[in-house]
Amino acid sequence: MNKLKIAIQKSGRLYEDSIKLLKDCSIEINIGIDKLKTTALNFPLEILFLRDDDIPQYLEDGVADIGIVGKNLLLEKRKRIKIKETLGFGKCRLSIAVPKSLSYNKIQDLDGKRIATSYPFLVREFFEKRYINAEIHEISGAVEIAPGIGLADCICDLVSSGSTLFMNGLKEVETVLQSEAVLASHLHLDSTQHIIMEKFLFRIRAVKKAKNNKYILLNVSNEKLEKIISYLPGIKSPVILPLANSECSSVHSVVNENDFWGIIENLKALGAQDILVLPIEKIIL
Ligand code: ATP
Ligand code: MG
Repeated sequence: MNKLKIAIQKSGRLYEDSIKLLKDCSIEINIGIDKLKTTALNFPLEILFLRDDDIPQYLEDGVADIGIVGKNLLLEKRKRIKIKETLGFGKCRLSIAVPKSLSYNKIQDLDGKRIATSYPFLVREFFEKRYINAEIHEISGAVEIAPGIGLADCICDLVSSGSTLFMNGLKEVETVLQSEAVLASHLHLDSTQHIIMEKFLFRIRAVKKAKNNKYILLNVSNEKLEKIISYLPGIKSPVILPLANSECSSVHSVVNENDFWGIIENLKALGAQDILVLPIEKIIL
């Protein structure tokens, strides 16, 4: 049977979460010692382990059919490929940082400066749109040390917590791009490959939805039930079950992680008791 080839990072920041995504989608793999490629045991998927920089080109060429890579890299490399789904991990931003000692007020302060980066295309585009003239120095790694060794006045690099910048005496001053891992695909999949990709995407979406939601159960006395129900929508509407104590009911519902604490506080104020919150594994609507 035909298989779909997926490229994932061989090692690095996206590796663990990419493997976990396959697992959450119930796709089983055995990773060999050489870790070049492997075949899923229960899904028509072949997994290729690559350097993340190579993945966009392989997707354009069709060496891999789909791949997991940072949006930052896809936009920098400008290959002819399609983004199919954002994946919610590998979150970071591409930011400009300057030495702490430099007084920085506005973007025009960067005019005429030398900036070191591994993202020359995105940085050039960012400056051109703002009519800033900066000299871009492309370097492939350890960008954050460039100002310290006199190679550049400032840098543009990926940041998540900001601790690397801090340790190198830099401060973040502008965000060029917000990024996360995405699933991208080759432009011309054949019909079988397309069907397999859609099956995989269906699973990914169910897993993503589940991660963003929690299952909640609570008890409430019957006279307060109506208020609680009007407050809790659930997927269609909440489930109400009678308790052995006939004056109370149990209410089950699904709430979004983002609004979660606000909802819990209000439910308590409306008389909800014994609130239980459970993770959801998959949601298929
Ligand atoms: P490779 O050996 O595969 O080339 P790499 O060293 O180029 O790996 P990593 O540092 O593992 O790449 O980062 C891979 C991706 O992880 C980045 O392109 C980005 O999308 C994402 N990422 C998330 N947070 C960060 C961060 N703080 N710094 C760098 N990348 C991050
Ligand atoms: Mg890389």
